[in-house]
Amino acid sequence: MVTCGLPYANGDLHVGHLRTYVAGDALSRGLRRIGQQTAFVCGSDMHGTPVAVNAAEAGVEPREFALDYHETYAETFPRFNVEFDNYGHTDDATNTEITQSFVRSWVDEGHVHEKEIEVAWDTEEDQPLPDRFVEGTCPYCGEHARGDECDEGCQRHLEPGEIEDPISTITGNPAEYRTREHEFLRLADFQEYLQGFLSRIEGTDNAKNQPREWIEGELQDLCITRDMDWGIDYPADEDEAGDADDLVLYVWVDAPIEYVASTKQYSERVGKDEYDWEQVWKIDGETEHGTEWDDDWTEENGEIVHVIGRDIIQHHAVFWPAMLRGAGYNEPRSILATGFVGIDGKALSTSRNRAVWADEYLDAGFHPDLFRYYIATGAGLETDVDFSWDRFAERVNGELVGNVGNFIYRSLLFAQRNYDGTPDAAVSHDVRERIEKALSEFETAVSEYDIRTLAELAADLSNYGNEYIQRNEPWNLVDDDPDEAEQVIRDCVQLTKAVAVVMQPVLPDKAEQLWGQLDEAGSVADVSLDAALAAPPASFDAPEELFEQVEDEHIDGLNEELQRRVEEASDDADDEESLADDDEPADLEPLVEERIDFESFEGVDMRVGEIVTAESVEDADKLLELEVDIGHEVRQVVAGLAQLHDVDDLPGTRVILLANMEQAELFGIESNGMVLAAGDEADLLTTHEDAPLGTRIK
Ligand SMILES: [Zn+2]
Repeated sequence: MVTCGLPYANGDLHVGHLRTYVAGDALSRGLRRIGQQTAFVCGSDMHGTPVAVNAAEAGVEPREFALDYHETYAETFPRFNVEFDNYGHTDDATNTEITQSFVRSWVDEGHVHEKEIEVAWDTEEDQPLPDRFVEGTCPYCGEHARGDECDEGCQRHLEPGEIEDPISTITGNPAEYRTREHEFLRLADFQEYLQGFLSRIEGTDNAKNQPREWIEGELQDLCITRDMDWGIDYPADEDEAGDADDLVLYVWVDAPIEYVASTKQYSERVGKDEYDWEQVWKIDGETEHGTEWDDDWTEENGEIVHVIGRDIIQHHAVFWPAMLRGAGYNEPRSILATGFVGIDGKALSTSRNRAVWADEYLDAGFHPDLFRYYIATGAGLETDVDFSWDRFAERVNGELVGNVGNFIYRSLLFAQRNYDGTPDAAVSHDVRERIEKALSEFETAVSEYDIRTLAELAADLSNYGNEYIQRNEPWNLVDDDPDEAEQVIRDCVQLTKAVAVVMQPVLPDKAEQLWGQLDEAGSVADVSLDAALAAPPASFDAPEELFEQVEDEHIDGLNEELQRRVEEASDDADDEESLADDDEPADLEPLVEERIDFESFEGVDMRVGEIVTAESVEDADKLLELEVDIGHEVRQVVAGLAQLHDVDDLPGTRVILLANMEQAELFGIESNGMVLAAGDEADLLTTHEDAPLGTRIK
């Protein structure tokens, strides 16, 4: 069972979302290829306050608003070859029914209790302010936080009443806290279970490690109800007192349960004999509901893999397993949390329109598989990656056109012209071994959820093929040594077929095209890994190029469009900022998640220095020529500080100099080091005590 985090029905899909869906899709295709019976499900997340807030702004009902996006998503995913076996949504009858049954189980098992809490209240509108209806300061990290999550700071989930200095997003007034009665899931009941769970869980390191910190100390109760109309009703008993029957369930209750509901819908469509949702999701009836975990059950149960964005780890690695456990459901085996996608080296920001949208990519006429390849091979799953049109073009042209496409085309063309198809010979020992190696790497990559390696297999194999063909020069052998020429081309056709088999999870459409070029029967999606070693048809037609070169002008146009949009949005934002005098947090660059070893750090020689002189550089508005004393010597450095600092103030300033930066020449002046500074305002780094000049930074 592979699931992807539900897209929230509140806005258009962009490349940042697509990364997760491409990974989930490739993994489920890979699992099928190695013989696993697999279902891949998802659905739209319809409830919660962001939908309610935006629907109100648009003047439509939340259901109508969310369904609109749901339909768009359902159409968009297949256009990126992301093919769910079932795609539902959280507001349908199946999810409503299963969600309410979860809650009833928790109540029956004594995990739910009622409590009076302080909720934010808008006094002007006289209404409660759940989640996104309130903004303020995160009590944990002090960053600006919105509703139930610290999305710009520590990424923590925030309970109602936790946000500090609350402001109503409806009226912009400071909110007050009022007492209301709500229902809570007692997570502390699952503390011991969760500790065990986190020691068992597989997946990316971020999903395995980050939650450990969150379950230290007594776990806070999770408020599972909200004061609003849009959502699934809390299944209150009729005789229950208090506010419970006016409440809906918190969106993070019914959203993950859609994984179960969507699987059930799939099961009902294909029949239980084909895929039994209960076998995957429900713990065997024999298993006791206790804190003791029975290790044997997994043998009879299916395995659940969640592919999510790294901003929702806490929901999937802490709340969700407790919710499942409390209702007698199976736990996930793995959680894969993908890193964020940046745009041109900066954080993707939909409010600043610094994003590449799903529709935009498709409208530009690019094949979806090219994006899938680019995003899957850019970095390991949990590392943040950058999308830039330039690099996209570079990688498509270099790796797909220049390597994979080139190998396939030259091999098949040569085979077709000289032998009308596959030459009549056995595959050589070395080539067979090389293909076997690729197949074993395929299995390992799928078993280890290593989407990047999986995505790179086709290029690796093609690389080998190109070298093989280059080394053997079959075009010189055709006349002199026809047997040897036949052998080489026979090997190349087999390698081509193997490329089709291993590239299918990431480049499904292109693999299918190649399958057709080889005149193979059926679909490459249905074959097992062994097919890579079976002989291709004896005859096939002349091939066509599988990949098309991306042209520079096309990319220039897309870059210009992106830049124009970002500028337009930032002008708007500037206007708003000057009106509101709001200190919005800076648009932070994503963290580099790839770690360096200590040795690499030791290679960086940073020293305490002091600016001795500073002069502007002729013809260069931004540059200053500095002399910086670093104890051993005085260095001449050219730095882009002119518009950010007063030249006369700089002499005497203590700075940090990167002393072993390679030398450069700027406007004819030699620059011999780099002064360290933070951000666009070039906030200069310094020391806070009096470390002598030349002291090394460690
Ligand atoms: Zn925070």
